[in-house]
Amino acid sequence: MNLNQECIMLKSELKKFSQQVILDKADEFDKAGTFPIDHIKQLADMGILGALVPEKYDGAGLDLIGFVVSLEEMSKVCASTATVVATHNAFFVYPILKYGDEDQKKKYLPGAATGAIVGGFACVETNDAGATKAGDAYLITGTDPLVFNAASQGPFTGFFPVKDGDCTLLACVVDEDAKIARKETSAVLGLRSAGIRQVVFNDLTLSASSILGSLQNGHAVLNATRDCAAICLAAILVGIAQGALDEAIKYARERIQFDQPIINFGMVREKIALMAIHIEASRQLVYDAALLYDAGKKLQPAASKAKYLAGQTAIEVTTQAIQIFGGYGYMKDYPVERYFRDAQVVNVIGGTPAMQKELIAKETIG
Ligand SMILES: Cc1cc2nc3c(=O)[nH]c(=O)nc-3n(C[C@H](O)[C@H](O)[C@H](O)COP(=O)(O)OP(=O)(O)OC[C@H]3O[C@@H](n4cnc5c(N)ncnc54)[C@H](O)[C@@H]3O)c2cc1C
Repeated sequence: MNLNQECIMLKSELKKFSQQVILDKADEFDKAGTFPIDHIKQLADMGILGALVPEKYDGAGLDLIGFVVSLEEMSKVCASTATVVATHNAFFVYPILKYGDEDQKKKYLPGAATGAIVGGFACVETNDAGATKAGDAYLITGTDPLVFNAASQGPFTGFFPVKDGDCTLLACVVDEDAKIARKETSAVLGLRSAGIRQVVFNDLTLSASSILGSLQNGHAVLNATRDCAAICLAAILVGIAQGALDEAIKYARERIQFDQPIINFGMVREKIALMAIHIEASRQLVYDAALLYDAGKKLQPAASKAKYLAGQTAIEVTTQAIQIFGGYGYMKDYPVERYFRDAQVVNVIGGTPAMQKELIAKETIG
């Protein structure tokens, strides 16, 4: 795909920042589970944190294609940092922008652009948490076990099933409140520095001014948010896969066995060829879906196709990268085990592969 000049410049700027700044701390932050707040502030100064926030609200107002190439560059080095930025834009900024009223936009978007707030997303479609009607307001109780960016203490978009109310799914913005507790999760496999916390709601009162759009459109807000997020997460999966391939090629050039670099061996070369093919095909689907978004067109099934293929690719490519590293691939001294762990998680979040295939089948069958 021929990217326009703006995208090429963004890609190069993000590549430089990722290699010169993010890379240095990626492993350390992963091991310690550190939320990369300094990097996020610097990305805010570069306009990337407020990528999808329009200029009217102090954001960069980027096209989605520009945002996905930026995510890809970041996740070649650190998928956690890319996921923090993607969650903030796709799961927090986007639903407010698309469904919020002017007061909500003025309240949250300028802060989201400058990094004063880093937004999250809590979606509880099961009985683990829920809303009950209390007069004109709703009371939220229960737990969301895994919420990205919760470590930042910022607001988040919330989606809660409603018991005995006048809607079935409440879409809202949840602000900091004494009735919310953010607790450490048990250690997670991947995306360990993406600020994941367990969020407990203890009779939190949500007034009408927190609702996104009308009471009845909760499912529409969630579906649209997931479609936008699927494209962003797919870009992260492509970046993880490309990062793993780059590391595998570097290692295969350096590793000598039987008096020659292992990159000379046909079986290793075949692995590299297959990895490159799958990455390129996935990237193409991600860019196609991003361009549909920029053209204001329907995102399904393109968004789910991109997320599904990029997920399968990232899982396969990171597995093969570990094989190319041999026994060293299994060790934390080398980066490919982190890519493998991160691929597993990004593949699941925002809709599992089974969910993406259901959506694709529904659209394809008609
Ligand atoms: C590290 C991490 C961070 C996360 N962060 C957030 C966050 O910030 N905010 C948030 O709200 N959530 C977050 N999540 C939750 C995540 O979005 C869910 O885990 C994911 O959507 C899958 O839902 P589930 O865990 O309830 O699995 P389930 O829905 O219980 O699925 C389990 C299995 O059953 C299959 N399955 C379920 N339903 C069907 C069906 N109808 N047909 C066929 N197969 C089906 C699934 O594909 C899967 O294989 C996070 C998860 C992780 C691992």
